[in-house]
Amino acid sequence: MTEKKKIRHILGLSGGKDSTALAIFLKDKYPNLEIEYFFCDTHKELPETYDYLKRIEARLGIKINYLGATKGFDYWLALHSGYLPSPKSRWCTIKMKIQPLEEFVGDDEAVSYIAIRADENREGYISTKPNIKPVFPFREWGLVKADIMKLLEDSGIGLPDYYRWRSRSGCFFCFFQRKYEWVMLAKEHPDLFAKAVEYEQNHEDGRRYTWTEGETLLELLSRKDEIIVRHHKAMEKEQKSYANQSLSEVLDKVLDQEDEESPCLVCHL
Ligand code: SF4
Repeated sequence: MTEKKKIRHILGLSGGKDSTALAIFLKDKYPNLEIEYFFCDTHKELPETYDYLKRIEARLGIKINYLGATKGFDYWLALHSGYLPSPKSRWCTIKMKIQPLEEFVGDDEAVSYIAIRADENREGYISTKPNIKPVFPFREWGLVKADIMKLLEDSGIGLPDYYRWRSRSGCFFCFFQRKYEWVMLAKEHPDLFAKAVEYEQNHEDGRRYTWTEGETLLELLSRKDEIIVRHHKAMEKEQKSYANQSLSEVLDKVLDQEDEESPCLVCHL
């Protein structure tokens, strides 16, 4: 008689707060559950994200599998003839997030834990592979953002350091970034901003791509004073409306207001 294969339990960490809080939550609720943690590495994450992942591993005593580690963004960009990904052409999530996950699972039966909160109206990435069953523990248990913040604080892991100026995990050049976050990338990581500019410009045949709609990063940066002033005004207004909010909550809300696009369902959890 052939032995029935074990069902695998998998949790994708994005380097963001919600998936981290889910790892903390599950470890506490189901200490004996053998969870395989993974991170789909584009090789273009912020240094703060890599530091955060190390902090999670150390605090929770877990091992994170880095998927797609041999093929990062530059490999796939070359295969796409230099076409930068964009909200309308998101080859980056397919090649660097979804495919590595599906290869990791193969044909095994797996339960995939997804960190969508009870106060969110989005679905997250649900694999179309029938052997990967998505579950939403925060929804089932009714956990909202305040609960997530508490889990992070109580665990000693806290928020990722980039949270001072950016509210989402993902590549340093992610096109879902808001204008203020681009300005802050230039301030916090001038080398990475310069690299993002290089990706826009580096096309020998004269093609022109921009990460943000309607302007190049250098054009955006030339408007930085205006962008910062607008951001500070929005922060002040938000702080006045709800006096008891933490700065990170205010930043989160203000950046959300600037958003024209929904966040990436695969990368920003
Ligand atoms: S973080 Fe942004 S750029 Fe990176 S893979 Fe996700 S959607 Fe693409």
